[in-house]
Amino acid sequence: MKINDLIKGAACVLLTIVFATCTTSIQNEVITATGQSQILGHWKSTNTSVSGDSVVLESESASLVSKFAVKNFDLSMTLKTTPGAEGLLSFHSSGADPDKGYRVMINNSDYREGSPQKTGSLSLIRNFFVRMTGDGEWFNLKLSVRANHITVFVGDKIVSEYIEPESPLRIEGNEEMVLSEGVLVLRKSNDQGRILVSGITVEALADDIPRDTLNFETTDEVAEKLTILNQQGFPVIDFHGHLKGGLTMEHVCEHSRNHGYNYGIAANCGLNFPITDDSSLYAYYDEISEEPVFKVMQCEGREWVTLFSEEPVSTFDYIFSDAMTFTDHKGRRMQLWMRNQVVVESEDQFMDMLVEKTVNIISKEPIDLYVNPTFLPAKLSDKYDSLWTPERMDRVIRALVDHDVALEINARYRLPSVDFVKRAKEAGVKFTFGTNNAGSYDLGRLEYCLEVVDEAELTSEDIWLPKPSGDKKVMEMGIPDKVTG
Ligand SMILES: [Zn+2]
Repeated sequence: MKINDLIKGAACVLLTIVFATCTTSIQNEVITATGQSQILGHWKSTNTSVSGDSVVLESESASLVSKFAVKNFDLSMTLKTTPGAEGLLSFHSSGADPDKGYRVMINNSDYREGSPQKTGSLSLIRNFFVRMTGDGEWFNLKLSVRANHITVFVGDKIVSEYIEPESPLRIEGNEEMVLSEGVLVLRKSNDQGRILVSGITVEALADDIPRDTLNFETTDEVAEKLTILNQQGFPVIDFHGHLKGGLTMEHVCEHSRNHGYNYGIAANCGLNFPITDDSSLYAYYDEISEEPVFKVMQCEGREWVTLFSEEPVSTFDYIFSDAMTFTDHKGRRMQLWMRNQVVVESEDQFMDMLVEKTVNIISKEPIDLYVNPTFLPAKLSDKYDSLWTPERMDRVIRALVDHDVALEINARYRLPSVDFVKRAKEAGVKFTFGTNNAGSYDLGRLEYCLEVVDEAELTSEDIWLPKPSGDKKVMEMGIPDKVTG
């Protein structure tokens, strides 16, 4: 060991001792700080200011560090952000070492602005991408840590949850992201906007709360892949979920938290579907508007364009459609998954028609995503690789690029092929993951999507994210007056 290392080591020990002696660890005690003077009494501030009865964090170095350390606790903070502001709430932190412990994101910016992780994200462990509150609004961020169980709430909704296993997998650089005990740190992480704090309550709980055990699979290859993608900050989102077959919002959100990815929950909207007009569309939106999922409209059949108007459609985070329902050249309405409706007179003619219908939908309907992509009826699915020729693939890919439509990688149908994804990536197409579940029994864990990430070498940059509100595609394009095919 070199002398330098010895000095560094000694300095670390010294710092730890100084830190430990001036920060008392508490349990079974409640520390309530309402208003700026009480907050500044219990929390050590650096580069903060005061506005009315709130403490303000503005510069990138601004922070509040608790004068006490905690192990198990419930915390509640009343916060407000102004546009652009981002911050991190760290716990089990050492104060001096920002890498130690866990971090919860504070970021209420719209989609595609600032970090893709939004308020409540248990950063790099259980990333959360849904915007639950806007800038300029007071909100409550709550955090509960009990033994190995971490829960983060925005308002009354659980947005991320994690049960730390006995020996958690951590990629290089994240090794210190584990539970222990330590101080709480709220710090600004960029130099835009301001974070206002009007109250903080910490209830320190007993140190000996028993550990929770996991009641779901966490050690197989899929779980490992999801853990690693989260730690890389990769947006893992099932953009295509449905509350069907008895599946409830509560169940799907629990599934999402357990396995470490987010959901978009879509209503099926169109002829002969549950939602057929503007008022039922608004009603669906209102029903799910507070939930920690993306709010989504699935545009069914080609008739949807005649049933809905731009305004209610534009309230959704994104909208999508597939090319599984259309009317063929002889006027026959086909749903490709219904064997008795599909007529194939010539395979090549059918494929050319399917490509033409698909390109029409992608180019004329104001959709954000093309889902259940390249689906073939049962009688043709065996010949997928030969029927989807490079020319046919490229026509669809060209339309996706030209019309800014992202391509779903569908877990349920295992579509499109890896070849298709590679060609699309090469052309600059963005991707989403989607399951299109039929109930609660087939939610899966995005298995096919994860395989494709590896095989086609997809990165975070290849993943599509919703456009900000006020900039939705449907507002720019409008809805066509008549059906597209
Ligand atoms: Zn669907």
